[in-house]
Amino acid sequence: MMELSPPGAVRWICRTLEEAGFETWAVGGAVRDALAGIPSGDWDLTTSARPGQIRRIFPRTVPIGVEHGTVGILARDGTLFEVTTFRRDVQTTGRHAVVAFSDSLDEDLARRDFTINAVAWHPLRKVMYDPFSGVADMEARCLQTVGEARVRFAEDYLRILRALRFAGVFQLTVTSETWSALVEAVPRMGQLSAERIREEMEKILTGHAQPSTSLSLYAASGVLAFFYPELDRLVGLPHPPETRMWDVDDGEARVDGHGQPHEHGQAHENDREGGAVRSGDVWSHALRTVDLLPRHRPALRWAALLAGIGIPEEDQGAGEVGEEEGRRTLLRSAAVLRRLRSSNARIQEVGGLAEWIGRPPDPSASDAGLRRWLSQVGRDRLPDLLRIWIAEARSDRLLRAAPEKGPQGWKVEELRRLARRLRGLSSMEFPLSTGELAFSGRDLIRMGHRPGPHFGQLLDHLLEMVLQDPELNTSEALTLEAKRWMKDWEAREGASAEGR
Ligand code: ATP
Ligand code: MG
Repeated sequence: MMELSPPGAVRWICRTLEEAGFETWAVGGAVRDALAGIPSGDWDLTTSARPGQIRRIFPRTVPIGVEHGTVGILARDGTLFEVTTFRRDVQTTGRHAVVAFSDSLDEDLARRDFTINAVAWHPLRKVMYDPFSGVADMEARCLQTVGEARVRFAEDYLRILRALRFAGVFQLTVTSETWSALVEAVPRMGQLSAERIREEMEKILTGHAQPSTSLSLYAASGVLAFFYPELDRLVGLPHPPETRMWDVDDGEARVDGHGQPHEHGQAHENDREGGAVRSGDVWSHALRTVDLLPRHRPALRWAALLAGIGIPEEDQGAGEVGEEEGRRTLLRSAAVLRRLRSSNARIQEVGGLAEWIGRPPDPSASDAGLRRWLSQVGRDRLPDLLRIWIAEARSDRLLRAAPEKGPQGWKVEELRRLARRLRGLSSMEFPLSTGELAFSGRDLIRMGHRPGPHFGQLLDHLLEMVLQDPELNTSEALTLEAKRWMKDWEAREGASAEGR
């Protein structure tokens, strides 16, 4: 266990309250993280003082959730610490609990979700109070509810998602009673709000170097099928089909974060198709990629997670991704995130990346071909896409049977070379959209032409020409070509008008 060393302010708050006659303990995240041996910043205090008393004792307080008993106390350095009055549940609905204040630490600990979250530690006396053996559970790496699991999940179904998160983050095995109650309760999670479901997923994606551990448990428990059916479909779907051979598991440990031992049917269900497809399915590919992306970029992790959801229903696995599939990936990603009430900015960023993850340019393309590709994707997206592809390539290199090749069958070296070329090209000054051309619709009007849909066709044609040869992006060259094109167009129009 890690030494618990609270900030001075925590000891100051505790001392002030105790001197006023109120018992005060640290409970929750910080204590649990220390038990797991990881540093934590999240110091929550629990006390016998009522909110009104807390607010009279401290000079600077913030009423965070006074009706729930939580008061924020501002330390001298401006940090806010949350102090919550001892509570017990009087009524629960599955969505939230109605709480009453209590004078007893025991009652307060008894309403907490898991034993590892129900350990109290006294910041002054430096003693542990652990009536539910959370310390032993953390040592044994096991996760179980405080009290009867079935009852505790029914009180608040969010605890299901919290269990899967904690089990993944701390590499805990869920005990059999808790696991079977959890799986049984999954179908009743429908009443949880979108925001809480999203926040849990965001915590997995940002709070965790290896989200795959928690996400595998989402799949194994049925939570993935319940909240994210689009993703659940990817479990067992071969990726990519021609390399299906990799995946015949010969019993060796896999390097994909799914190797953790699970008791009692928690074994991940990635081998749905009779065991023929294992770590080479689209879902595990996505999980390995997510793990290799930085936790401070949840949008990249979301995009990698969602990248396969555009695979057509009739397909037996991931293959070449065309324009239509890219589009479908974009639409379905947006639908998932909208359902979770994500921000529009997030929906656009993730959808725009997911659309292109499966559609990289051909590494053997000419500069003109790469410029054409860049003009479709947009310069701004390039760095993030490269980052995701490199993660994908590394993720597939982790598969012993496919040592060198990336997801598109590239060698990692080949991808690096492509990345260098694309970076070089994208920083060069040349137009990537018709709006950036040295010629516009206004020039056409000035030349005496009447606007119409053919303006767009002409500008596309000019852009195509400039993507082939950026030197041609001058007013003279483009005006000349525009004149020629318009003459052809008028001739064609005239011919078809006569034909009518
Ligand atoms: P994190 O901050 O990473 O979400 P946490 O455990 O600190 O993890 P908080 O929401 O900060 O979660 O809650 C602090 C403590 O309150 C928890 O450690 C737990 O003891 C208790 N708690 C939180 N949510 C619940 C819940 N839904 N049911 C029961 N107890 C809970
Ligand atoms: Mg917390």
